Amino acid sequence: MSARTVLSSEDIDRAVTRIAHEILEANTAVQKSSAQKNGTKDLIILGIPTRGVLLAERIAAVIAKAEPNADISNILGRLDITMYRDDLAANPTRAVTETQIPKQGIDDKVVVLVDDVLFSGRTIRAALDALGEYGRPRAVKLAVLVDRGHRELPIRADFVGKNLPTAREERINVNLSETDSQNAVVIES
Ligand code: 5GP
Ligand code: MG
Repeated sequence: MSARTVLSSEDIDRAVTRIAHEILEANTAVQKSSAQKNGTKDLIILGIPTRGVLLAERIAAVIAKAEPNADISNILGRLDITMYRDDLAANPTRAVTETQIPKQGIDDKVVVLVDDVLFSGRTIRAALDALGEYGRPRAVKLAVLVDRGHRELPIRADFVGKNLPTAREERINVNLSETDSQNAVVIES
């Protein structure tokens, strides 16, 4: 087996910073009045466990720096999708984690889902179902650190750290210092 580092710690930082600013930029562009444009208006960021939650926290930290008046606790949350997976019957023992929706709710908000790797798209399909339990967003967008291709559903990401064409059998290891010994994205083949 061989391992190849495709994103260093600095690369991950840069990607997270860029994604955070792209989210703010896109969210400002859709606001009608130019008078009080605010990059975090009606914005909700939901991380998908496990590492999507960590990335969402990192993105929120960049946003907090860029928009010091924003109430990040009312923007950042997490969405567990376990019960909405289409392979739940085949894997009934998966652990469910807590969903936390910011107190402003998701009705008529722009919800940005955050995950580490986008592959078949089935996790995000499940996330869209899970979201439906909490309200009706104005729009749902997707941010991922890595898009490795091989989609099986008509789903794409709006904000991408890196597109990494992979072979189906390859595995991408996303290491984040909050849970792993280092920050690095490594392809194992
Ligand atoms: P999908 O549901 O799109 O097939 O796969 C995406 C989900 O599975 C993500 O939550 C991601 O964490 C995980 N995943 C799929 N492929 C990989 C991979 O190669 N590496 C990592 N780290 N996670 C993956
Ligand atoms: Mg995952």
